[in-house]
Amino acid sequence: MDLEKDIKLPYEVYKGGVIRLFEKRVVVVPADFIASINEEVLKSKLGLKGAQSVRRQIGFEAAFEYAKNYGKNLKFDKNLDCNCKIIMEKYLEMAHARGWGDFFIEELDFDKPCIVVRIENSLEAESLGKTGVSSCQYWVGGVAGILKYSLEKCINHNHPKVSIDGREEKCVSKGDEYCEIVVERTGKNCMTDELMD
Ligand SMILES: [Zn+2]
Repeated sequence: MDLEKDIKLPYEVYKGGVIRLFEKRVVVVPADFIASINEEVLKSKLGLKGAQSVRRQIGFEAAFEYAKNYGKNLKFDKNLDCNCKIIMEKYLEMAHARGWGDFFIEELDFDKPCIVVRIENSLEAESLGKTGVSSCQYWVGGVAGILKYSLEKCINHNHPKVSIDGREEKCVSKGDEYCEIVVERTGKNCMTDELMD
């Protein structure tokens, strides 16, 4: 994502300890802080599966809310796919600007529906290290949240109530070269065109 070229100074710092990024108030925390929440708080209290599930849900809720707020400024009567794509791109741009890594949309098909996002330099994977399990649960939920909003909003896709699910297909923490999030209709393999209706 060529954010560095497009936005020279995304952060605005105000008096009184207020930092804004694209008009949203943000805070800066060290990567260790995120790792500590993920590993020492959530995993120790909830176990691996429970911690992954909670992090997915946090990502989902935050992204869905982001899409609702951002979507208010867009018209959805024309170019529906285009507007939903814009929301997804802006969401990933925000993540990039906040230092979560570099995000690339590899596939985005609202009709299947399916989205594949590659993440390089994922903060979650880097801070948790080579654990052998998937680390980037916030983005599994986050990408799903944006797709869910898009499907509900874009009525011409004709499947607003379709059930979707996400997973991290590849993760640096599992030894892969990069991380890859896949969100698709439940029961479908979005890497092929074989639809299981
Ligand atoms: Zn990962």
